[in-house]
Amino acid sequence: MSGETPIIPHDFKFLSSSQSSETRPSILPFCRSLPKVELHAHLINGSVDPVTLQELGCMETSILDYIKLASLSNNTSRALDECFDLFRIAHNATNTPQAVHLATRRVIEDFDKDNVIYLELRTTPRAEQGMTKQEYVEAIVTAIKEYQGDVLVKLILSINRSHDAKACQDSLDVILKKKKLYPDIIKGIDLSGNPKVGGFDSYIFKTARENGLYTTIHCGEVKNDGEVTDILGFKPDRIGHGNFVHPDYGGCQENWELLCEKRVPVECCLTSNVMTNTTRNYSEHHVKELISSGLPYTISTDDKGVFLTDLSREYSHLYDDHALTKEALWKVSFNSVDYSFASSAEKSLLKSKMIEWKRDNEALFK
Ligand SMILES: [Zn+2]
Repeated sequence: MSGETPIIPHDFKFLSSSQSSETRPSILPFCRSLPKVELHAHLINGSVDPVTLQELGCMETSILDYIKLASLSNNTSRALDECFDLFRIAHNATNTPQAVHLATRRVIEDFDKDNVIYLELRTTPRAEQGMTKQEYVEAIVTAIKEYQGDVLVKLILSINRSHDAKACQDSLDVILKKKKLYPDIIKGIDLSGNPKVGGFDSYIFKTARENGLYTTIHCGEVKNDGEVTDILGFKPDRIGHGNFVHPDYGGCQENWELLCEKRVPVECCLTSNVMTNTTRNYSEHHVKELISSGLPYTISTDDKGVFLTDLSREYSHLYDDHALTKEALWKVSFNSVDYSFASSAEKSLLKSKMIEWKRDNEALFK
Protein backbone atom coordinates (compact mmCIF):
# COMPACT_ATOMS: atom_id res chain seq x y z
CA MET A 1 0.00 0.00 0.00
CA SER A 2 1.29 3.48 -0.70
CA GLY A 3 -1.13 5.94 0.88
CA GLU A 4 -4.59 7.09 -0.03
CA THR A 5 -3.87 10.10 -2.19
CA PRO A 6 -4.81 9.40 -5.82
CA ILE A 7 -1.78 9.44 -8.06
CA ILE A 8 -3.47 11.21 -10.99
CA PRO A 9 -2.03 14.75 -11.17
CA HIS A 10 -4.60 17.48 -10.47
CA ASP A 11 -3.92 19.17 -13.79
CA PHE A 12 -4.29 15.93 -15.72
CA LYS A 13 -6.51 16.31 -18.81
CA PHE A 14 -8.84 13.37 -19.31
CA LEU A 15 -9.34 12.33 -22.87
CA SER A 16 -12.47 13.96 -24.19
CA SER A 17 -14.34 14.53 -27.40
CA SER A 18 -12.88 18.01 -27.53
CA GLN A 19 -9.59 16.38 -28.46
CA SER A 20 -11.10 14.71 -31.47
CA SER A 21 -13.40 17.17 -33.17
CA GLU A 22 -16.32 19.49 -32.59
CA THR A 23 -17.96 18.84 -29.24
CA ARG A 24 -21.61 19.01 -28.32
CA PRO A 25 -21.14 19.09 -24.55
CA SER A 26 -24.60 17.88 -23.66
CA ILE A 27 -24.06 14.31 -24.84
CA LEU A 28 -21.86 12.91 -22.05
CA PRO A 29 -24.60 13.01 -19.37
CA PHE A 30 -26.88 11.13 -21.80
CA CYS A 31 -24.16 8.55 -22.43
CA ARG A 32 -23.56 8.16 -18.69
CA SER A 33 -27.24 7.57 -18.06
CA LEU A 34 -27.62 5.14 -20.98
CA PRO A 35 -27.56 1.47 -19.86
CA LYS A 36 -24.53 0.05 -21.67
CA VAL A 37 -23.08 -3.27 -22.73
CA GLU A 38 -19.30 -3.78 -22.61
CA LEU A 39 -18.01 -6.72 -24.64
CA HIS A 40 -14.28 -6.01 -25.02
CA ALA A 41 -12.40 -5.13 -21.83
CA HIS A 42 -9.05 -6.63 -20.82
CA LEU A 43 -9.40 -7.20 -17.13
CA ILE A 44 -5.94 -7.01 -15.64
CA ASN A 45 -3.43 -5.53 -18.06
CA GLY A 46 -5.44 -2.57 -19.26
CA SER A 47 -8.63 -1.93 -17.28
CA VAL A 48 -7.27 -1.43 -13.76
CA ASP A 49 -7.46 2.24 -12.79
CA PRO A 50 -4.39 4.10 -11.49
CA VAL A 51 -5.83 4.49 -7.98
CA THR A 52 -6.20 0.71 -7.65
CA LEU A 53 -2.65 0.24 -8.91
CA GLN A 54 -1.55 2.54 -6.13
CA GLU A 55 -3.56 0.47 -3.67
CA LEU A 56 -1.75 -2.61 -4.97
CA GLY A 57 1.57 -1.04 -4.10
CA CYS A 58 2.60 -0.11 -7.62
CA MET A 59 5.51 2.35 -7.86
CA GLU A 60 4.45 5.95 -8.43
CA THR A 61 6.74 6.35 -11.42
CA SER A 62 5.19 3.26 -13.03
CA ILE A 63 1.68 4.60 -12.49
CA LEU A 64 2.60 7.91 -14.08
CA ASP A 65 4.00 5.98 -17.04
CA TYR A 66 0.78 3.94 -17.17
CA ILE A 67 -1.41 7.04 -17.53
CA LYS A 68 0.98 9.16 -19.59
CA LEU A 69 -0.29 7.63 -22.78
CA ALA A 70 -3.72 9.20 -22.48
CA SER A 71 -2.35 12.73 -22.16
CA LEU A 72 -0.43 12.63 -25.42
CA SER A 73 -1.93 14.24 -28.47
CA ASN A 74 -2.90 12.05 -31.39
CA ASN A 75 0.12 12.75 -33.53
CA THR A 76 2.51 11.75 -30.77
CA SER A 77 0.60 8.66 -29.66
CA ARG A 78 2.55 5.66 -28.61
CA ALA A 79 2.98 2.86 -31.06
CA LEU A 80 1.40 -0.52 -30.34
CA ASP A 81 4.66 -2.05 -29.09
CA GLU A 82 5.10 0.63 -26.47
CA CYS A 83 1.54 0.08 -25.26
CA PHE A 84 2.27 -3.57 -24.66
CA ASP A 85 5.21 -2.43 -22.49
CA LEU A 86 2.84 -0.27 -20.46
CA PHE A 87 0.44 -3.17 -19.95
CA ARG A 88 3.22 -4.93 -18.01
CA ILE A 89 2.89 -2.34 -15.24
CA ALA A 90 -0.55 -3.59 -14.19
CA HIS A 91 0.51 -7.15 -14.98
CA ASN A 92 3.42 -6.92 -12.51
CA ALA A 93 1.23 -5.35 -9.82
CA THR A 94 -1.19 -8.29 -9.87
CA ASN A 95 0.97 -11.36 -9.33
CA THR A 96 -0.89 -12.86 -6.36
CA PRO A 97 -4.46 -14.23 -6.15
CA GLN A 98 -5.27 -11.49 -3.59
CA ALA A 99 -4.17 -8.73 -5.96
CA VAL A 100 -6.04 -10.30 -8.88
CA HIS A 101 -9.16 -10.57 -6.74
CA LEU A 102 -8.98 -6.90 -5.67
CA ALA A 103 -8.27 -5.69 -9.20
CA THR A 104 -11.26 -7.65 -10.54
CA ARG A 105 -13.55 -6.21 -7.88
CA ARG A 106 -12.43 -2.66 -8.61
CA VAL A 107 -12.80 -3.03 -12.38
CA ILE A 108 -16.36 -4.35 -12.00
CA GLU A 109 -17.20 -1.47 -9.63
CA ASP A 110 -15.83 1.04 -12.18
CA PHE A 111 -18.10 -0.31 -14.92
CA ASP A 112 -21.01 -0.36 -12.48
CA LYS A 113 -20.49 3.35 -11.75
CA ASP A 114 -20.57 4.02 -15.48
CA ASN A 115 -24.01 2.40 -15.83
CA VAL A 116 -22.81 -0.69 -17.62
CA ILE A 117 -25.50 -3.33 -17.14
CA TYR A 118 -23.70 -6.21 -18.84
CA LEU A 119 -19.94 -6.76 -18.79
CA GLU A 120 -17.69 -9.33 -20.43
CA LEU A 121 -14.18 -9.19 -19.02
CA ARG A 122 -11.34 -11.02 -20.70
CA THR A 123 -7.94 -12.18 -19.51
CA THR A 124 -5.28 -14.78 -20.22
CA PRO A 125 -4.82 -17.45 -17.50
CA ARG A 126 -1.49 -16.58 -15.84
CA ALA A 127 1.01 -18.52 -13.78
CA GLU A 128 3.39 -16.67 -11.46
CA GLN A 129 5.66 -17.76 -8.66
CA GLY A 130 3.14 -18.72 -5.99
CA MET A 131 0.09 -18.61 -8.31
CA THR A 132 -1.02 -21.23 -10.83
CA LYS A 133 -3.16 -20.47 -13.89
CA GLN A 134 -6.02 -22.24 -12.12
CA GLU A 135 -5.65 -20.08 -9.00
CA TYR A 136 -5.54 -16.97 -11.17
CA VAL A 137 -8.87 -17.88 -12.79
CA GLU A 138 -10.35 -18.88 -9.42
CA ALA A 139 -9.48 -15.47 -7.94
CA ILE A 140 -11.34 -13.73 -10.76
CA VAL A 141 -14.37 -16.03 -10.64
CA THR A 142 -14.58 -15.58 -6.86
CA ALA A 143 -14.60 -11.78 -7.24
CA ILE A 144 -17.34 -12.04 -9.88
CA LYS A 145 -19.43 -14.35 -7.69
CA GLU A 146 -19.00 -12.13 -4.63
CA TYR A 147 -20.04 -8.96 -6.47
CA GLN A 148 -23.55 -7.95 -5.36
CA GLY A 149 -24.31 -5.03 -7.69
CA ASP A 150 -26.46 -4.59 -10.78
CA VAL A 151 -23.98 -5.54 -13.51
CA LEU A 152 -24.27 -9.00 -15.05
CA VAL A 153 -20.62 -10.10 -15.37
CA LYS A 154 -19.19 -12.84 -17.58
CA LEU A 155 -15.64 -13.97 -18.24
CA ILE A 156 -13.83 -14.64 -21.49
CA LEU A 157 -10.50 -16.44 -21.17
CA SER A 158 -7.82 -15.58 -23.69
CA ILE A 159 -5.09 -17.42 -25.50
CA ASN A 160 -2.03 -15.22 -25.92
CA ARG A 161 -0.88 -15.43 -29.55
CA SER A 162 2.73 -14.83 -28.57
CA HIS A 163 2.88 -17.98 -26.42
CA ASP A 164 4.25 -21.25 -27.82
CA ALA A 165 2.03 -24.21 -28.73
CA LYS A 166 2.59 -25.98 -25.41
CA ALA A 167 1.65 -22.92 -23.34
CA CYS A 168 -1.47 -22.36 -25.50
CA GLN A 169 -2.54 -25.99 -25.09
CA ASP A 170 -1.93 -25.70 -21.36
CA SER A 171 -4.12 -22.57 -21.21
CA LEU A 172 -6.83 -24.29 -23.25
CA ASP A 173 -6.85 -27.22 -20.79
CA VAL A 174 -7.31 -24.79 -17.89
CA ILE A 175 -10.02 -22.87 -19.75
CA LEU A 176 -12.03 -26.00 -20.57
CA LYS A 177 -11.71 -27.31 -17.03
CA LYS A 178 -12.85 -24.03 -15.49
CA LYS A 179 -15.66 -23.65 -18.02
CA LYS A 180 -17.09 -26.97 -16.82
CA LEU A 181 -16.96 -25.73 -13.24
CA TYR A 182 -18.43 -22.27 -13.92
CA PRO A 183 -20.54 -22.56 -17.08
CA ASP A 184 -22.66 -19.51 -16.19
CA ILE A 185 -19.63 -17.26 -15.79
CA ILE A 186 -16.98 -18.48 -18.23
CA LYS A 187 -18.64 -18.05 -21.60
CA GLY A 188 -15.98 -17.53 -24.23
CA ILE A 189 -12.44 -17.77 -25.53
CA ASP A 190 -10.41 -15.00 -27.14
CA LEU A 191 -7.15 -14.65 -29.06
CA SER A 192 -5.19 -11.63 -27.88
CA GLY A 193 -1.66 -10.36 -27.28
CA ASN A 194 0.73 -8.41 -29.46
CA PRO A 195 -0.67 -8.74 -33.02
CA LYS A 196 2.82 -8.60 -34.47
CA VAL A 197 3.79 -11.82 -32.74
CA GLY A 198 2.47 -15.40 -33.25
CA GLY A 199 -0.72 -16.25 -35.10
CA PHE A 200 -4.24 -17.73 -35.21
CA ASP A 201 -4.36 -21.46 -34.48
CA SER A 202 -7.74 -22.74 -35.66
CA TYR A 203 -7.34 -26.04 -33.79
CA ILE A 204 -7.50 -24.30 -30.38
CA PHE A 205 -10.63 -22.39 -31.34
CA LYS A 206 -12.36 -25.38 -32.96
CA THR A 207 -11.76 -27.39 -29.80
CA ALA A 208 -13.08 -24.55 -27.64
CA ARG A 209 -16.17 -24.21 -29.82
CA GLU A 210 -16.82 -27.96 -29.68
CA ASN A 211 -16.72 -27.63 -25.90
CA GLY A 212 -19.43 -25.00 -25.81
CA LEU A 213 -17.38 -21.81 -25.66
CA TYR A 214 -18.23 -18.73 -27.71
CA THR A 215 -15.33 -17.33 -29.71
CA THR A 216 -14.04 -13.81 -30.18
CA ILE A 217 -10.74 -13.11 -31.89
CA HIS A 218 -8.58 -9.99 -32.11
CA CYS A 219 -8.41 -9.60 -35.86
CA GLY A 220 -6.76 -7.14 -38.24
CA GLU A 221 -5.13 -4.94 -35.59
CA VAL A 222 -2.18 -4.71 -37.96
CA LYS A 223 -2.06 -5.48 -41.68
CA ASN A 224 -2.13 -9.24 -42.13
CA ASP A 225 -4.57 -10.10 -44.94
CA GLY A 226 -3.89 -13.85 -44.84
CA GLU A 227 -4.65 -14.12 -41.14
CA VAL A 228 -7.79 -11.97 -41.45
CA THR A 229 -9.01 -14.35 -44.20
CA ASP A 230 -8.36 -17.37 -41.97
CA ILE A 231 -10.14 -15.81 -38.98
CA LEU A 232 -13.19 -14.68 -40.96
CA GLY A 233 -13.28 -18.11 -42.63
CA PHE A 234 -13.55 -19.64 -39.15
CA LYS A 235 -16.51 -17.29 -38.51
CA PRO A 236 -16.00 -16.50 -34.84
CA ASP A 237 -18.96 -15.13 -32.88
CA ARG A 238 -17.26 -11.72 -32.84
CA ILE A 239 -13.96 -10.14 -33.85
CA GLY A 240 -11.96 -7.53 -31.94
CA HIS A 241 -10.98 -4.28 -33.70
CA GLY A 242 -10.94 -5.24 -37.40
CA ASN A 243 -8.93 -2.13 -38.31
CA PHE A 244 -7.18 -3.55 -41.35
CA VAL A 245 -10.09 -5.24 -43.12
CA HIS A 246 -11.60 -2.59 -45.41
CA PRO A 247 -9.41 -1.76 -48.46
CA ASP A 248 -9.49 1.98 -47.62
CA TYR A 249 -8.07 1.14 -44.19
CA GLY A 250 -5.14 -0.99 -45.28
CA GLY A 251 -7.10 -4.23 -45.70
CA CYS A 252 -8.25 -5.75 -48.99
CA GLN A 253 -11.49 -6.01 -50.98
CA GLU A 254 -11.72 -9.82 -50.57
CA ASN A 255 -11.63 -9.61 -46.76
CA TRP A 256 -14.11 -6.74 -46.66
CA GLU A 257 -16.50 -8.78 -48.82
CA LEU A 258 -15.96 -11.75 -46.52
CA LEU A 259 -16.88 -9.61 -43.50
CA CYS A 260 -19.98 -8.33 -45.31
CA GLU A 261 -20.98 -11.89 -46.15
CA LYS A 262 -20.33 -13.40 -42.71
CA ARG A 263 -21.63 -10.36 -40.78
CA VAL A 264 -19.41 -11.13 -37.79
CA PRO A 265 -20.00 -8.37 -35.19
CA VAL A 266 -16.95 -6.13 -34.73
CA GLU A 267 -15.88 -4.89 -31.30
CA CYS A 268 -14.76 -1.30 -31.98
CA CYS A 269 -12.46 0.39 -29.48
CA LEU A 270 -12.10 3.97 -30.72
CA THR A 271 -9.86 5.57 -28.10
CA SER A 272 -7.60 2.53 -27.98
CA ASN A 273 -7.15 2.68 -31.75
CA VAL A 274 -6.51 6.42 -31.75
CA MET A 275 -3.98 6.21 -28.93
CA THR A 276 -2.10 3.30 -30.45
CA ASN A 277 -1.99 4.95 -33.86
CA THR A 278 -3.95 2.21 -35.62
CA THR A 279 -6.36 4.90 -36.74
CA ARG A 280 -5.62 8.56 -37.39
CA ASN A 281 -8.44 10.11 -35.37
CA TYR A 282 -11.93 9.44 -34.10
CA SER A 283 -13.82 10.71 -37.12
CA GLU A 284 -11.78 8.60 -39.55
CA HIS A 285 -12.14 5.42 -37.50
CA HIS A 286 -13.25 2.41 -39.55
CA VAL A 287 -16.48 2.19 -37.54
CA LYS A 288 -17.59 4.69 -40.18
CA GLU A 289 -17.60 1.93 -42.82
CA LEU A 290 -19.46 -0.47 -40.52
CA ILE A 291 -22.11 2.17 -39.86
CA SER A 292 -22.57 3.09 -43.52
CA SER A 293 -22.70 -0.57 -44.60
CA GLY A 294 -25.15 -1.56 -41.87
CA LEU A 295 -22.78 -4.16 -40.44
CA PRO A 296 -23.03 -5.32 -36.81
CA TYR A 297 -20.68 -3.61 -34.36
CA THR A 298 -20.38 -2.81 -30.70
CA ILE A 299 -18.46 -0.08 -28.85
CA SER A 300 -15.90 -0.99 -26.20
CA THR A 301 -13.14 0.41 -24.01
CA ASP A 302 -10.44 -2.25 -24.58
CA ASP A 303 -8.15 -0.90 -21.81
CA LYS A 304 -9.93 1.84 -19.90
CA GLY A 305 -7.19 2.07 -17.25
CA VAL A 306 -4.29 2.74 -19.55
CA PHE A 307 -6.28 5.00 -21.91
CA LEU A 308 -8.16 6.78 -19.08
CA THR A 309 -11.49 6.38 -20.78
CA ASP A 310 -14.81 4.73 -19.97
CA LEU A 311 -17.67 3.35 -22.02
CA SER A 312 -19.71 6.58 -21.79
CA ARG A 313 -16.86 8.52 -23.37
CA GLU A 314 -16.57 5.92 -26.13
CA TYR A 315 -20.28 6.34 -26.89
CA SER A 316 -19.89 10.11 -26.89
CA HIS A 317 -17.40 9.78 -29.76
CA LEU A 318 -20.05 8.11 -31.91
CA TYR A 319 -22.26 11.13 -31.39
CA ASP A 320 -19.55 13.79 -31.74
CA ASP A 321 -17.47 12.26 -34.50
CA HIS A 322 -19.88 10.02 -36.41
CA ALA A 323 -23.07 12.06 -36.14
CA LEU A 324 -25.15 9.33 -34.53
CA THR A 325 -28.39 10.45 -32.91
CA LYS A 326 -29.27 9.67 -29.29
CA GLU A 327 -31.77 7.11 -30.58
CA ALA A 328 -28.96 5.47 -32.60
CA LEU A 329 -26.66 5.38 -29.55
CA TRP A 330 -29.38 3.57 -27.62
CA LYS A 331 -29.75 1.12 -30.53
CA VAL A 332 -25.98 0.40 -30.60
CA SER A 333 -26.17 -0.57 -26.92
CA PHE A 334 -29.43 -2.51 -27.43
CA ASN A 335 -28.01 -4.45 -30.40
CA SER A 336 -24.90 -5.30 -28.40
CA VAL A 337 -27.06 -7.50 -26.17
CA ASP A 338 -27.59 -9.78 -29.18
CA TYR A 339 -23.83 -10.01 -29.82
CA SER A 340 -23.11 -10.86 -26.18
CA PHE A 341 -22.41 -14.32 -24.80
CA ALA A 342 -25.29 -14.11 -22.31
CA SER A 343 -27.97 -16.81 -22.26
CA SER A 344 -31.28 -16.25 -24.08
CA ALA A 345 -33.08 -15.60 -20.77
CA GLU A 346 -30.41 -13.10 -19.74
CA LYS A 347 -30.63 -11.35 -23.11
CA SER A 348 -34.40 -10.99 -22.77
CA LEU A 349 -33.97 -9.50 -19.31
CA LEU A 350 -31.29 -7.04 -20.48
CA LYS A 351 -33.43 -5.97 -23.43
CA SER A 352 -36.44 -5.44 -21.17
CA LYS A 353 -34.31 -3.25 -18.91
CA MET A 354 -33.19 -1.16 -21.87
CA ILE A 355 -36.69 -0.76 -23.27
CA GLU A 356 -37.97 0.21 -19.85
CA TRP A 357 -35.16 2.76 -19.39
CA LYS A 358 -35.98 4.30 -22.76
CA ARG A 359 -39.67 4.53 -21.92
CA ASP A 360 -38.91 6.15 -18.55
CA ASN A 361 -36.41 8.61 -20.04
CA GLU A 362 -38.14 9.86 -23.17
CA ALA A 363 -37.27 13.44 -22.24
CA LEU A 364 -33.56 12.69 -22.55
CA PHE A 365 -33.99 11.92 -26.27
CA LYS A 366 -35.32 15.39 -27.12
ZN1 LIG B 1 -8.27 -5.92 -27.02
